Amino acid sequence: AKRDRQSVWRVYSEPMGLRAVSDIRLERDLRRAIENRELDVFYQPEVFLKSGRLYSFEALARWDHPTRGRIGPVDFIPLAEETGLIIPLGEYVLSEACRQMEIWNRLRPGLGDCTVSVNVSALQLRQRNFADRVLEALERNGLGPGQLQIEITESAAAADLEASMRTFSQLRELGVRIALDDFGTGYSSLSHLRKFPLDAVKLDRSFVSEVTEESKMYRVVASVIRLAHALDLEVIAEGVETEEQISTLRELGCDIGQGYWFARPMSGPKTLEVIGSWRDL
Ligand code: C2E
Ligand code: CA
Ligand code: CA
Ligand code: CA
Repeated sequence: AKRDRQSVWRVYSEPMGLRAVSDIRLERDLRRAIENRELDVFYQPEVFLKSGRLYSFEALARWDHPTRGRIGPVDFIPLAEETGLIIPLGEYVLSEACRQMEIWNRLRPGLGDCTVSVNVSALQLRQRNFADRVLEALERNGLGPGQLQIEITESAAAADLEASMRTFSQLRELGVRIALDDFGTGYSSLSHLRKFPLDAVKLDRSFVSEVTEESKMYRVVASVIRLAHALDLEVIAEGVETEEQISTLRELGCDIGQGYWFARPMSGPKTLEVIGSWRDL
């Protein structure tokens, strides 16, 4: 029998407090989807603004739910984080991204030092053996550490400074690139930027969407870019949608852009096609 998806019934469960029945079902379904490897991973390019060369492909999780249809990560990553499912989910995305990268490398030798980027949550960072797991995934797929970038939000990194520092250092020593994600949202601390071993910061979309020549955001973004450069970090702007944003970001010396203006997130096979026909700007 079909059940009402918008069920208003709630059950009480001790540690979680009030949780909607639909959430509990979603958790069960997500657990199954991970076990059965039913999640999809899409990829979105990050592109050097000067040369038009490919810098990276960011892996973004997608879920084709059997009855609810396609569910975006904003609707299941928080649940995965709450329930601990982010650990197997994250491993799956990492492994899948490395597998794809190996295929692209093999079929498109011109990719050069382009990386694949994987988003990592706070809970994963806290795993003592996280760096080993990353190395394992790379080795299993015949990739070098220089072909992987890890994206971590500042709030995730700040949640457990000690664990973050340890894991970042281990990864960086291996040669994995590290980017601080959603930079500028949450509380940003200069000391994080100084202390964390980083390669890049990803300027959040909320900044990029307001960056025009006459705006206050223009001056804010200009100083963020100067600051990042002073610390030898590359700057990646996310959510680039317009020609105007591109030219403003170029003018400000932003290194790398990502957004619908270049390409939407795409399936692995579609990405292969795009790599094949990629024209440097
Ligand atoms: P994020 O890391 O900030 O990823 C960027 C999001 O912006 C993606 O949404 C992407 O599809 C979207 N986007 C890209 N270009 C544009 C643009 O030009 N305009 C607009 N409006 N949006 C754009 P998506 O795929 O829905 O992912 C949402 C968030 O879910 C991600 O934000 C990331 O934090 C999280 N996420 C996705 N996959 C994973 C994963 O495998 N693990 C973890 N831990 N988090 C993930
Ligand atoms: Ca990201
Ligand atoms: Ca981001
Ligand atoms: Ca973001």
